[in-house]
Amino acid sequence: MLYLDNSATTPILPEVRDKMMTYLSNEYGNPSGKYYELAENANKAVEEARTHVSTLLDAKMKEIIFTSGATESNNMVIKGVADYYSSKGTHIVTSKAEHSAVIDVCKFLESKGYEITYLDVDRYGRVDPQELSDQIREDTILVSIMWGNNELGSLNNMELISQICEEENVFLHTDATQILGKVAINWSELPGISFLSCSAHKMHGPKGVGALLVRSDQYGKLIPFTPLFHGGGQEKGLRSGTYSVHNVVGFGEAARISTLNLQQNQKNLMSLESRLIEILNEKFHDHISYNSDDTNKIPGVINVRFIGINNEVLLKKLSPVIAASTGSACSSAAPSHVLQAIGLDLRAVRESIRFSFSPYTTLDEVEIFNEL
Ligand code: PMP
Repeated sequence: MLYLDNSATTPILPEVRDKMMTYLSNEYGNPSGKYYELAENANKAVEEARTHVSTLLDAKMKEIIFTSGATESNNMVIKGVADYYSSKGTHIVTSKAEHSAVIDVCKFLESKGYEITYLDVDRYGRVDPQELSDQIREDTILVSIMWGNNELGSLNNMELISQICEEENVFLHTDATQILGKVAINWSELPGISFLSCSAHKMHGPKGVGALLVRSDQYGKLIPFTPLFHGGGQEKGLRSGTYSVHNVVGFGEAARISTLNLQQNQKNLMSLESRLIEILNEKFHDHISYNSDDTNKIPGVINVRFIGINNEVLLKKLSPVIAASTGSACSSAAPSHVLQAIGLDLRAVRESIRFSFSPYTTLDEVEIFNEL
């Protein structure tokens, strides 16, 4: 079976799993403990993982706050900034194509009296930076715009958006979950980005671990916000709770391997995507159309409409040989809000499928599409 739902999740690499096993067996210490070796070893492992994640993201070690994944990171920063800066303002700008872990947090805040502007997106799901700039006001406390879209693969112009938010002096959060290990993240060169969310399980790491990056100033002080979890004060008081050491170690190892292989992985993803498009075009001609763009995108993610064929029916038929999805695994019951935001009618939404590769998929495996 060819697994092409890597935007939903990825299998754990054997090297990552092996490294994690040590911390699921002998090395069971609590990294916050003191004076004895088990605790020190666990602490060393967490800090080593932090080094690998910081290298992949081009961030400082102290800027990384480990969380249980991107859903938590998004909740933590949006609710945390909203609470901490409520006396400054209650306006937040986001887009209609964000993941539900951003949109639903914004809807929750709306119910608590915050004002949210949901920006329209273009036909590929991108925000117009000028329109974003026009919506920033005196009382805007946060802008939250995803870096790469999980259903379409389109990349927002984060360089320009970062520059705009820096000039406007407003905090910018970006959900970078889908680009980790697929697109280079140059956090140190984009000071306009104040916060960044990511997750390990989209790049062959374990589920249930991720990070929130928080920008530090020239004195090393992190941007303050209200924590989501109060308790033992781990992660500089921003994320209390005993470390999931094996998961953090797995995240670190997946990040280390991704950093080493980034360029090769990008090449693989691009050639896999091109070959699939070639086969689909040959086989289906004008019976298909592409919802995803072919430039400024995450390599290895395409969203295709099979005209006249219901996507659920097609996916079920394909399932013994190819595993793919209609889009976001997190909200598959409702028709995609992202595809609706790019202007597709419900019929077109229900005929659309996302194929997402791993850099470890092989070109030979893609040839299965010839047999459909
Ligand atoms: N944001 C985006 C863009 C995603 O694709 C996902 C995963 N579907 C999430 C957030 C949620 O991540 P996690 O599974 O780590 O909570």
